[in-house]
Amino acid sequence: MDASATEWLKRGRVLFAQECKFLRPIKAFADLPPTKLPEVAFAGRSNVGKSSLINALTNRKTARVSNTPGRTRDINLFDLGGRLTIADLPGYGFARAPKAMAEEWRHLIHAYLKGRPQLRRVCLLIDARHGAQDNDREMMASLGAAAASYLLVLTKIDKLKESERSSAINDAIALARTHVASHPDVIATSAETGDGIAELRAHLAHVASAPQRRYKAASGGRRE
Ligand code: GDP
Repeated sequence: MDASATEWLKRGRVLFAQECKFLRPIKAFADLPPTKLPEVAFAGRSNVGKSSLINALTNRKTARVSNTPGRTRDINLFDLGGRLTIADLPGYGFARAPKAMAEEWRHLIHAYLKGRPQLRRVCLLIDARHGAQDNDREMMASLGAAAASYLLVLTKIDKLKESERSSAINDAIALARTHVASHPDVIATSAETGDGIAELRAHLAHVASAPQRRYKAASGGRRE
């Protein structure tokens, strides 16, 4: 039988309490290390709140919150406790990005989505105030074409009045349900207030590899 929702919240908390180690920036598909762990990627428009969300999830300054939107063009990889690789994908849709840069981005993301079998889930971040924009829909189409399973995650939900939140969430759910590769649920988050962070951790705990059982030699090989 599947564990209860409470149990998954606990598993998510335990997973994200692990050390999160920066592996390296990836500029080209060929640079990607052949890691064995399940991988989850975070994607979204530049300034959507991706770095803030990764920092809130990991409870530390894992990703750099940038003052210059659109600057990071690399995929940044992190190892979370030897159980999950986190891939922070470069943000898209930065208006002032030169054309050649946008093209490079497209190449790298396309190669990554198609050629990374350990990729289990992409969290596609949407700013709750604006809803899905054209380039978010293009990203959804690319994810669908690559058969990459993804979850829509609303960010900055604290910026909406209580009365506006459910319509933003319902719009995102309606959008998700018209795309086969999209998970039918949507998680609304705030890096400011912590809303939705525990739920997202629980969601990602389903994807991570199980914790290693450690054996204690001194206790006759009993499990810790
Ligand atoms: P990125 O470019 O997608 O990595 O976005 P950042 O994490 O750098 O965030 C962009 C801006 O949005 C920063 O000024 C953040 O402080 C702000 N921000 C990010 N997440 C939230 C949130 O949940 N609530 C609020 N109110 N602001 C946020």
